[in-house]
Amino acid sequence: MKVVKVEIDTAAPADPEASILIIYTGGTIGMAFDEKAKHLVPFNFNMILDKVPELQQFKYLLTVISLDPPIDSSNVTIPTWVMLARLIEDNYEHYDGFVILHGTDTMAYSASALSYLLENLNKPVIFTGAQVPIGRVRTDARENLITALQIAATKTDGHSLVPEVCIFFHTLLLRGNRGKKVESSHFNAFKSENYPFLAKAGVNIDYYWSYIRPHATGPLKVHYHMDNNVAILKLFPGITKPVVESLLHVPGLKGVVLETFGAGNAPTNPWLIALLQDAINRGIFILNVSQCDEGRVDQGRYETSKYLLNMGVIGGADITSDAAITKMMYVLGLNLEPELTKQVLAMDLRGEITI
Ligand code: ASP
Repeated sequence: MKVVKVEIDTAAPADPEASILIIYTGGTIGMAFDEKAKHLVPFNFNMILDKVPELQQFKYLLTVISLDPPIDSSNVTIPTWVMLARLIEDNYEHYDGFVILHGTDTMAYSASALSYLLENLNKPVIFTGAQVPIGRVRTDARENLITALQIAATKTDGHSLVPEVCIFFHTLLLRGNRGKKVESSHFNAFKSENYPFLAKAGVNIDYYWSYIRPHATGPLKVHYHMDNNVAILKLFPGITKPVVESLLHVPGLKGVVLETFGAGNAPTNPWLIALLQDAINRGIFILNVSQCDEGRVDQGRYETSKYLLNMGVIGGADITSDAAITKMMYVLGLNLEPELTKQVLAMDLRGEITI
C-alpha cells in the first residue's frame, strides 16, 4: 500500500493552535464522476483541497497523508487497518489529533478495528467522510471535514478533549465502535443506538463529557495482528442445516459472530444445537450478537438462549455486529489461551459494550 504526503499551507502562526494529521483513504468524500466509465471513482487529495479553501484559514498545522491510489471503502482489508494504526503510531508524538477521511460503507468497521489496535490511545482519531462528493454543490463533505478537524484540535487543560476513536458525521460525534451506518441516501448516515453521542455540532459543538472515555494512563500500545478466520452467521426462521453446517466447517475457522433474534435467542431444534456444540468442542469461539439495533443479549432469559449459555456461547451484550466481528479478529490475533480468549471476548475492551 503506497502513501503520499501533501502539505497544506494554512494560516498557522509559528506556534499553531494545534497540529493535525489528516489521513485520506478515499470514499465518496473525494470521488468524482468518471465520464468514460459512468461511475464514481476516488480522486487524489489535491482535489479536496481545491474545494475547501476554508482549510487555509485554520490556525492549525495540517498535514495530509493520502493512500495512493485512494480506495472505495468496500475494498478495506486488515492490512488497511494495520497501515492506519502504524501511520498513527509513527506520527503520534508530532500531532495533537488525527482525522481519517474514509468511505462511509465500512467506516464503522474501520473505526472499531482501530479502537482495538490502538490501546491506551490518548489523542483523538476522528473518522469522517461524506454522502455527496466534495465537488458537488450540495456536498456534506465540507461541514464534516471542518468540524472533524475542530474536534480533533480541541483541548482542555492541555489534553485532548476526546481521547478516543470516533466517527463524526452530519452533526454527531459517536464512539467509533458504537457507530453503525444506517442511511445510504440522507446525510445523517450514522447512529449509535446503544450508547449516547459524545458531542453534537450545531451553532456550537456541545460535548457530553461524562460519555467520553477517560485519558489512558499507560503509553500508546499498537497491535498489528488481526485474524480473519472468522465469519458472521445470521440466523433467520427457516435456516437450513446444510447452510449452518457448511459455514461451521469452513477450513481454519476460529470464530463466529452468531446474529441471533431479540435478546440473543436462537431456534432450539436438535440439529442446530448439535452443530453449535460440535463447533465449540472443536475450539471455535461463538459470540452471540443481537439482530436488534437496540437492547442487549441476555443469554438465559429465555429457553431459546439458555442452551447457548450452557454450551459456552459468549454473550455479546449490546455490541454491534461491526464491532463484534472486528473484536473477534483482534482478540484472535492476540493468540491467547482458549479460556482467556473467551474471557477477553466477553470483556469491555474499548467502550464497545456496556457490561
Ligand atoms: N462507496 C463509498 C465508500 O464507502 C461510499 C461513501 O463513501 O459514502 O467508499
